[in-house]
Amino acid sequence: MSEGAPKSLPIVTTSGRSPDLRALVSDGVENRPGVYRFTGPRGEVLYVGKSVRLRSRLLAWLRPTGTGRGESKRAELTRLAWGIEWEYVPNEFEALLRELRLIRGFRPRFNVRHRKERPFAWIRLSGGRAPRLVATRSPAAGARGLLGPFPAGRDLPEVLRDLAFATGVRDCPDTTPMHFSDQLDLLGAGIQVEPACIRGDLGSCPAPCAGRCSAETYRKGVDEAIAFLEGRTEAPLERLLARMTEASAAREFERAAHWRDRTEGIRSLRARVRAFEEDRGRLNFAYRPSEPGGVEGRWGYLIVRGQVRTRFPWPDGPDPEVSAAITRSPAAPASSLSLGEREELFLVARWFRQNPGELEKTEPLGALAPPTTLPRALE
Ligand code: SF4
Repeated sequence: MSEGAPKSLPIVTTSGRSPDLRALVSDGVENRPGVYRFTGPRGEVLYVGKSVRLRSRLLAWLRPTGTGRGESKRAELTRLAWGIEWEYVPNEFEALLRELRLIRGFRPRFNVRHRKERPFAWIRLSGGRAPRLVATRSPAAGARGLLGPFPAGRDLPEVLRDLAFATGVRDCPDTTPMHFSDQLDLLGAGIQVEPACIRGDLGSCPAPCAGRCSAETYRKGVDEAIAFLEGRTEAPLERLLARMTEASAAREFERAAHWRDRTEGIRSLRARVRAFEEDRGRLNFAYRPSEPGGVEGRWGYLIVRGQVRTRFPWPDGPDPEVSAAITRSPAAPASSLSLGEREELFLVARWFRQNPGELEKTEPLGALAPPTTLPRALE
């Protein structure tokens, strides 16, 4: 779908600082879905918003300032604004999408945050000779071993430590020197011979800090941790469960409860990581939203793995060749989605979750199954 306004739906501009923007809006703006921008004296975009009733929304911005919540922002914005631009869109869904894309493009100063999101996180591998598992809320593009995003609470670092424990991955600071056993001759004398923390003595870490494992042995632990989060192995769970069973058999119930909680923690973490991918896989369909007043929509949207790939006139349907090429092309893995693409994915998922009746206006895309349940992980 084009980022610009559709040609048949022209942008209308009021330039210059009019003494009566209200009158201009009242006379020139229609009450239908659209997106608007407040601009400054140099044409810079100060704020982007959307509404299903554009004129009413703009008039609400321009009414005399009161004293309620949000009034100071409104007063400052309307004081600084020199112009208003707006464009019409056919329906609320497209207004949401267009607003998101404009905010992403302009980053207006008054759109501090597009919306309040649940806290999401990614898991990545740290750099260095012996990488460890790290939780992050803002991954760098191209970060290694990236998994997510998924809903994450404050307990994430602790759960990652438990997973590191179960897989033999270190969790010490990156400043700890590492010396693999197969590289000792290259490094010469003077290395530390005792592990720098108790995990090396307890056997939950192969202690690369003391040259007690090869690079390959250490790498196996890292690979297993990633494989577990991707649902390819149960080994870390089985190891923690074995400790729980052992403690239980010895009637050490407090210790058994400790291992049970650890087991549940990493199981739940994996479920959250996997749910994201599964939810994304459900968002494959052609969608025909209604227009104001429940009028049948003139436009359809091709949605593939949560991304709006194109818009097409309904009921002609998308160009069959374009549609086939789009649905055949593999969607990018979640880890490599840009920030904008991730925001759009959450927007699409939220739209169908908050408006479950809209799923009835979707049709399957070829072999891709339409959704039967609502996305949960993308809340
Ligand atoms: S044993 Fe060494 S490498 Fe392992 S976590 Fe402790 S300090 Fe780090």
